[in-house]
Amino acid sequence: MGPCINGVCFSADNVLPVPPDVSGVMRILVVDDDELDRMAILRTLRLGGGAHMVTEAATADEALQCFAHGTFDAVLLDYRLPDMDGLEVLRRMNSRRLGSTAILMLTGMDDDDLATQCIEAGAQDFLLKQDLSPRHLMRAVTHARMRHRIELALIESHERLRELAEQDPLTGLANRYFFDQSLRAAIPRTRRYGLNLALLLLDLDNFKLVNDSHGHDVGDQLLRVVAERLCAVIRDGDILCRLGGDEFAILAFQVGQDDSIHLLSERLLAALNVPVEIGGVVLPATVSIGIALCPDNTSDADELFKCADLAMYRAKRDGRNQAHYFSEDLHRQVMRRVQTERDLRAALLHGEFDVYYQPQISVVTGDVCGVEALVRWHHPERGLLLPGEFLDIAEDTGLIEQIGDWVLDRACLDAASAGLRGTSLKVAVNLSARQLQAPGLVANVRRALEASHLPPSCLELEITESVLIADIEESLIRLEAIVALGVNIVIDDFGTGYSSLSYLKRLPISTMKVDKSFLFHVPDGEKDKRLLKALILMACNMGFQVVVEGVETAEQADICHEYGADAMQGFFFARPMSLTDLDAFLRRTAS
Ligand code: C2E
Ligand code: MG
Ligand code: MG
Repeated sequence: MGPCINGVCFSADNVLPVPPDVSGVMRILVVDDDELDRMAILRTLRLGGGAHMVTEAATADEALQCFAHGTFDAVLLDYRLPDMDGLEVLRRMNSRRLGSTAILMLTGMDDDDLATQCIEAGAQDFLLKQDLSPRHLMRAVTHARMRHRIELALIESHERLRELAEQDPLTGLANRYFFDQSLRAAIPRTRRYGLNLALLLLDLDNFKLVNDSHGHDVGDQLLRVVAERLCAVIRDGDILCRLGGDEFAILAFQVGQDDSIHLLSERLLAALNVPVEIGGVVLPATVSIGIALCPDNTSDADELFKCADLAMYRAKRDGRNQAHYFSEDLHRQVMRRVQTERDLRAALLHGEFDVYYQPQISVVTGDVCGVEALVRWHHPERGLLLPGEFLDIAEDTGLIEQIGDWVLDRACLDAASAGLRGTSLKVAVNLSARQLQAPGLVANVRRALEASHLPPSCLELEITESVLIADIEESLIRLEAIVALGVNIVIDDFGTGYSSLSYLKRLPISTMKVDKSFLFHVPDGEKDKRLLKALILMACNMGFQVVVEGVETAEQADICHEYGADAMQGFFFARPMSLTDLDAFLRRTAS
C-alpha cells in the first residue's frame, strides 16, 4: 500500500470520496497491520456517523509516509505493528506533528502501564479494540481532538510566557535563561561542524559603589547605557545577554582562526572605557572580561561558564578594566587555591597551625623588648608554609577570622607562659581586615586576655593602614574599645598604604611600624635614607613609638639608631622562631 493511494474515503453514507480540505469532514489515518481489524475499525467509524475521510496504512513505514504527506485530524494507531514498536511510531509522528492531529493508540491488551507510556509519549487516548463501539470511538476521537487543541493552546501560551521569561526587562537584552539555552544548543553544533565559539563574561567594575553612592535608579540607567554600548560593538549573529546584576555575557561564534576575539574584547573595553554621564554625575563604566573558548578549553557548557568566570575573576584581581583568557595555568592556580581552601578547613580541625615569634630589639638598651606573633602552617604534604602562601585565601574565604582568633589566643597564652612571664615582653598580633570588621573582635580580645591572664599592656594589635582606611568610622569605634581594655594599637607596614595623616591623628595608635621596603636600598640609596629618616622623624614627632622592620644588616641597625627609631625587628637580630626556640633565645640574650 502506498501513501494515501489505498485511502478509502467514506462519507456519511460510505459512498462519496471527500477531498481532504473540505471542512466538517474528519480526516482519519487508520494504522493496523491486521486487515480484519482495520475493516472492523472502518465499520465502527461508519456506524458512528459524521463525515470521514479515512486513509489506511498496514505498516509503520506506510503510516509515517502517509503522516508526512497528508493532513489528518486523527490517527488511530495500532500499538502492535510488524516493522516498528507502536510507541516509536507515536514518537516519530509526534516530532513531526504541526497541526492539531490527535493520535489515539489502539491495542488488544488492557495494560495500564502501556497506556501511561503512550499518553506520556504524546497520545491523546488509549483505546481497547474489543471495547470499541461506534459511539465510543467517535466520542473518543472528538474528545481526543479537543484535548489536543487545548494542549496546543497551552503550549502556545507557554511559548509566549517563555518569550517573556527569556528577556531581561531592564535592558531588553536576552536573559540568562535564553543565553543558557543558546549556549547548550550551540555547543553540539560547533562539535558537529568543526566550528568554535567564545564565551565572554563581563562584569562591571565597582558597580556596587555606584549603586551604594548614587542609588539604584542611577545604577539601572548605567546598566542600560552599558547594554546599548555592548549592543553596538557585538557582531551580527553573536548573542549578548544580561546574566543578572552587573554581569553580561557574549556568545561569539566562529572564532579562533584569527584574532577576532582579541579585537572584540578590545572594542568592548574601549566602548566602556568612556565614562557615562547620568543626571550630571559622571560615572565610570569599565568592565572586566573573562574569555573561555569552546572547544579549546572545554566543550561542556557548565565548564565553559566556570572557565570564563575564573578568567574574569583573574581580570578583576589583575586590576580590572581588562580582559583575561582562561588557560590551563590559570586553572592550575585556581585548583591550587581550591585545594588550599579545603586544606585550610582541615588544618583548623587538625590543629596544623603554629605561631612563630620574631623578637624586637630596643634601640636604646639592645635588649629584646617584644615579639611579633607570626602564623605558620605545618602542612601535612607541603611542609612549613609561610603566611604569604595561604593568608589571602584565608582572607577571601573568611577563614582568617577563625585562624586569627586562634593566633590571638595562642599568642596570649604563650606570652603569659613560663618562658615569657617575668620579663616585660610585649607580644604583637597581626589583625586582618576581616577580623577588624568582625563585630566580635573586642569580645575576642577580652576573652584571650582573660583566658591567658596576660596583662593587656603586654598585648599589641598590628593593623595595616589600608585595612583601617577602608572603613574608618567603624574601625575607630572598635579600636577605641580595644584601647579601653589597655591594649596597644600598632600601624603595620607604615608608609605602604595611602593613609592621610589626618586620619592617623584620629586613631588611638601607640606605635608605627615602618615597612621593611624602606630599608631595601639603605644604606646605599641616598634618597631612600632620606625617606626613612623623614618617616621616622614624622612618626616620632606625632608622638608614636617607632619600630623599623626588615633590619638585615648592622649598618641598617646603626642607621635606625641614628634616625631615632625606638625598636628594630629583622633577620639581623633573629628570624621568626618557634616558642621553644624563643625560650632558648631569650635565655641566651638575657645572660
Ligand atoms: P608583617 O606583619 O609585616 O610581618 C613581618 C614579616 O616580615 C614576616 O613575614 C617576617 O618574617 C618578615 N621579616 C622580618 N624580618 C625580616 C627581614 O629582615 N627581612 C625580610 N625580608 N623579611 C623580614 P611572614 O611571617 O612571612 O609574614 C608575612 C605577613 O603575613 C605579615 O607581615 C603579616 O602581614 C601577615 N601575618 C603573619 N601572621 C599573621 C597572623 O597571625 N594574622 C594575620 N592577619 N596576618 C599575619
Ligand atoms: Mg606585623
Ligand atoms: Mg609589617
